[in-house]
Amino acid sequence: MAIHEECGVFGAWAPKNENLASTAYYALYALQHRGQESCGIVVNDDGIFTTHKNLGTVGEVFTPSVMSDYPEGTMAVGHVRYGTTGGTNRANTQPIVVNHQKGKLALAHNGNLSNAYELRTELELNGAIFHGTSDTEIIAYIITQQRLKTPSIETAVSKTMDLLDGAYSLVLMSSAKLIAARDPNGFRPLCYGKTEDGTYIIASESCALTAVGATIERDLLPGEIIVFDENGIHCDTSHCGTRTHSPCIFEYIYFARPDSVIDGVSVHNARKEAGKLLAKRHPVDADLVIGVPDSGLDAALGYSEESGIPFSIGFIKNKYIGRTFISPGQGNRIDQVKIKLSPISSEVKGKRVVLIDDSIVRGTTSGQIVSLLRNAGAKEIHMRISSPPFLNPCYYGTDIDSRENLIACHHSVPEIADIIGADTLGYLDIEDLSVMIGSNQFCHACFSGNYPTAVPTHTEKGRFEGKLSERKKNK
Ligand code: SF4
Repeated sequence: MAIHEECGVFGAWAPKNENLASTAYYALYALQHRGQESCGIVVNDDGIFTTHKNLGTVGEVFTPSVMSDYPEGTMAVGHVRYGTTGGTNRANTQPIVVNHQKGKLALAHNGNLSNAYELRTELELNGAIFHGTSDTEIIAYIITQQRLKTPSIETAVSKTMDLLDGAYSLVLMSSAKLIAARDPNGFRPLCYGKTEDGTYIIASESCALTAVGATIERDLLPGEIIVFDENGIHCDTSHCGTRTHSPCIFEYIYFARPDSVIDGVSVHNARKEAGKLLAKRHPVDADLVIGVPDSGLDAALGYSEESGIPFSIGFIKNKYIGRTFISPGQGNRIDQVKIKLSPISSEVKGKRVVLIDDSIVRGTTSGQIVSLLRNAGAKEIHMRISSPPFLNPCYYGTDIDSRENLIACHHSVPEIADIIGADTLGYLDIEDLSVMIGSNQFCHACFSGNYPTAVPTHTEKGRFEGKLSERKKNK
């Protein structure tokens, strides 16, 4: 699987001083799957911000000595990042901390703006200087500008949302307030919960709430702003309903952890349902069903339940794979698959195997996995994919390749089966996705090309070709 998502966000508000750096640490650990390039935590101790952020995973960056330097506080903001724009460098690490005439601000963001180019160009023409290249810096700049003209930080956030287009789940902190905001399309998940001692926790996924002992209260509504301060919780729903709810369907298929619940739908159940739908759409005579760990396992279970073909563990995944596996070079991926996955010969030898994975991007990784199974003695390999074919890039925070590298843009399904070495291949249909999550409101643009927001043509030419050339350089 070669697709990466860009970020997980975290926030905490406590009624009294607590070791919130530690809470943030455990929550970010639970969100690590959303980004392994960099991470950061800012703790607010009576208006004084203590910040540490760096390139690396949570375990690498937050050593015992770093953690011991954090004071207790009543608020914290945290972030894990996989950069889909702007490359890997310290200037793009988050949370971003800004000092301005009316105070200070720490901001963490998940998603990509679809009008970032226009916003940045206009701001630069008006004298703005950016240190990094992330959309988050643009958002921080606009909020700061608005804050100078508005009576409160939440009004500044609301005014900023009037200007933003695309995907943004935000957690930000001023000296006295913690604020969470979700874009009106609701592309990326964002929820909040509460611990027994009254600390509010905001996180990209509910698995992070569970990790720190909080019970989920609810997801933020698309367009909602929630403020946590000494007066309690206040909600601003003035942006709600201004756009069609378009949560990213790929959160359910691949990005999110299966133990998370997003907008009331269990990710595990959605994946299992995808497997059942695959079994109905693409049945086959076979001896066992296996999934590519980890994101193919739940769908494999569903395929097995629906078809009656026994489920088995066909691959062992190396648990000790570090962030080096986020390496974008295609040459690296070919070698790395063998290190990452190892087939269990005794299970698959001489068998007709249904192999479930969540997606095919370039086809390189899928070909490697099929070849591993073949070498382990599988007699037949019937590959089933728990998503439709990728045909379009994503503008909302997902590192889906440009069309030139998407195998489904250039080959029919039988041709792809041939290229990856599978006996047969079957994808989920777009219409299956609404059954999968029990709703027909979601973004499926990478499959259908129907984008929920305006897509500026220069975005693909500029941003995405930029990202691609970065990849090519790294090959
Ligand atoms: Fe998700 Fe695809 Fe939409 Fe991007 S284009 S937000 S990956 S469904």
